[in-house]
Amino acid sequence: MIVIDTHTHTISSGHAYSTVQEMAKEAAVNGVKMFAVTDHGPAMLGAPSLYHFGNLHTIPRELYGVRIIKGVEANIIDYNGKIDIPEIYLKRLEFVLASFHDICIEPSTVEDHTNALVNALRNPYIDAVAHPGNPTFQVDIDKVVAAAKKYNKFIEINNHSFIVRTGSEKNCKEFALKCKENGVSIVCGSDAHISFDVGNFERVKNILNEVEMPEELIINTSVERFEEYLRLRRERLAAL
Ligand SMILES: [Zn+2]
Ligand SMILES: [Zn+2]
Repeated sequence: MIVIDTHTHTISSGHAYSTVQEMAKEAAVNGVKMFAVTDHGPAMLGAPSLYHFGNLHTIPRELYGVRIIKGVEANIIDYNGKIDIPEIYLKRLEFVLASFHDICIEPSTVEDHTNALVNALRNPYIDAVAHPGNPTFQVDIDKVVAAAKKYNKFIEINNHSFIVRTGSEKNCKEFALKCKENGVSIVCGSDAHISFDVGNFERVKNILNEVEMPEELIINTSVERFEEYLRLRRERLAAL
């Protein structure tokens, strides 16, 4: 059972419709034990400024019994894998997703897309690449999964992709299969843009069932395992 949602947006993203408080309340109702607030980085139209990310400590660690993880969905802004959040702000975050959005970067070649995701996964502050199955930014799936394995990072399977990023299904299934074959862990993100969708993994679950994904490779199924990852992450960053 998936009890952690590692990808959600609040009103701060500019095109999402609930507050952190509303998200937490609904999460508690839906049986979600932890969720990451991952509003868009500043390169996205209508997204918050960097100060938003510097001030996330204001949000309590726990609300309505639900642990709130302070994060971001950073935008990849060049094909070397550069993101729109400087290190000084990255240091203050608990979980960092990196992803492509076509209003922040013009789609290019498979080689360029792959290179950007591989470099993003190499970045010690980045934990996962979000919706890498988006066919608008087609990648070499083998190479991206190999990079996730090498750097001990996650591949996200995104519930929202099946609605808004048409054609993602085939790629997401292949990502899930390759992760299973290579023992790479995945994270499941609802990519909720309203409170009612926090913890909505309806379509993700179909894919995971189809590929018979082992539970130990789904990081969102255990609060203990996820907290352990966050602990190791703090160690990783302290050693920089
Ligand atoms: Zn996104
Ligand atoms: Zn998102």
